[in-house]
Amino acid sequence: MTEPITVLGAGCTGPLLATLLARRGHAVRIFERRPDARRVPLPAGRSINLALAARGLAGLERAGLMGAVRGLLVPMRGRMVHALDGATRFLPYGQRPHELLWSVSRAGLNRVLTDAAEAAGVTVAFEHAARAADFDRGLVTIEDTRAGRRFSVPMNPVFGADGGSSALREAMVASGRGTAREELLEHQYKELTIAAGPNGEHRLELGALHVWPRGGYMLIALPNADGTFTATLFLAAAGGPVSFATLTGARAVTELFEAEFADVVPLIPDLAAQFATNPVGRMSTIYAAPWRAGGQALLVGDAAHAIVPFHGQGMNCAFEDCRVLDDLLAAGGDWETVFGRFDALRRDDTAAIARMALENYVEMRDTVRDPRFALQKELALELERRQPDRFIPRYSMVMFHDEIAYAEAERRGRLQTALLDEATLGRADLAGLDFARLERLVVERLPPVTRPAVPA
Ligand SMILES: Cc1cc2nc3c(=O)[nH]c(=O)nc-3n(C[C@H](O)[C@H](O)[C@H](O)COP(=O)(O)OP(=O)(O)OC[C@H]3O[C@@H](n4cnc5c(N)ncnc54)[C@H](O)[C@@H]3O)c2cc1C
Repeated sequence: MTEPITVLGAGCTGPLLATLLARRGHAVRIFERRPDARRVPLPAGRSINLALAARGLAGLERAGLMGAVRGLLVPMRGRMVHALDGATRFLPYGQRPHELLWSVSRAGLNRVLTDAAEAAGVTVAFEHAARAADFDRGLVTIEDTRAGRRFSVPMNPVFGADGGSSALREAMVASGRGTAREELLEHQYKELTIAAGPNGEHRLELGALHVWPRGGYMLIALPNADGTFTATLFLAAAGGPVSFATLTGARAVTELFEAEFADVVPLIPDLAAQFATNPVGRMSTIYAAPWRAGGQALLVGDAAHAIVPFHGQGMNCAFEDCRVLDDLLAAGGDWETVFGRFDALRRDDTAAIARMALENYVEMRDTVRDPRFALQKELALELERRQPDRFIPRYSMVMFHDEIAYAEAERRGRLQTALLDEATLGRADLAGLDFARLERLVVERLPPVTRPAVPA
């Protein structure tokens, strides 16, 4: 009997990839370092909920999982921007009924994904960590951490879906088969829970991702299905007048929130206690190359290209990896060919979303406060209404248009920004704009979007 394919990690990527592989007739097993999250709650520190958008939905759809996931989803139609004086302004994400993001519980999604993998015949060994990989002998060392026993499995092949601190990636680098660089963001995050109201109701407007942009830092909140919101404070680790390093006691925390996020204070009565207990998380971008070792191993998801979370795309991009890989497997070829194609196809796109995710931090915490930002958003939506095949706001291309590759979204986005900058220079509103000229420029500069063919 042939040995199964090995997938390392049962986070977001591993179970989806394993399901797709199993559906193609492969025997697959997953080794996951942690205990089974369906039985033991996930440790604090990783985001409690995630924004799911078109690319993620397409990956789930490919595995036939939307039916199981739909009940977990809470819609977010736009950003609710909270000014310092408590005033709020709603900025819609898109303009068509389906152009919204979905807040989903990480634990709930993980449960669905793991159940689906098992239902597809995948075996999942929890508390089994990859410790080393020997590419010359084609073996991965696994440690059963409960039994304290190590054993080897053949790379048949092995997929590294073991996240930002991937053991498989480290082994590839250590054996001279690749390089990897982690660029740590100087900002960190802390999650806080806004409890549900007395009748289980949401205490901030539902249907929005709430943002309190404060220039150098920000607070955001995403709704959960149980009436709570998960708020996240993004702030410099150290340096400057306010940072995690300066928020050392209850008083400093309360003072910051009362001065900057006054409308949130009554919603988190145990703010100081939560702040003291909840961990601070780090964020980084991983640049690794190549992602493959011949036909023996392939890195996917965060293991290959972790990004900062400000575009809400890390998991979406990882699910897109799975969908693309499934397309490539359908197109045929041996593992080495498929892995080579995957690496070539995804490299520019993942580099583009890594850059756009970093840029989006500045947009969310700062630019969103600028009246010109709102004006440009308004104009972008108007141009999209007039030229829907050519002008699609960059945010929409990334979040709602999985037929447009990330690199193409970035490239078209640059052309569009130049156009919006020109058109809004010195203007307070759109009255009197020469739309006929603008439409001509759109037609000149932006060819219609076409759906790419399945890669051969
Ligand atoms: C604060 C924050 C907010 C985010 N918000 C969003 C969002 O809104 N939308 C979005 O799309 N993305 C978001 N992301 C990104 C998203 O969390 C990741 O991109 C996604 O989890 C990547 O999935 P993965 O399976 O590749 O890695 P992970 O989810 O990290 O899973 C890796 C798995 O591998 C296991 N593992 C690790 N080492 C080993 C080993 N040696 N052996 C065996 N198993 C191992 C881990 O225990 C884990 O279960 C956010 C990230 C952060 C930090």
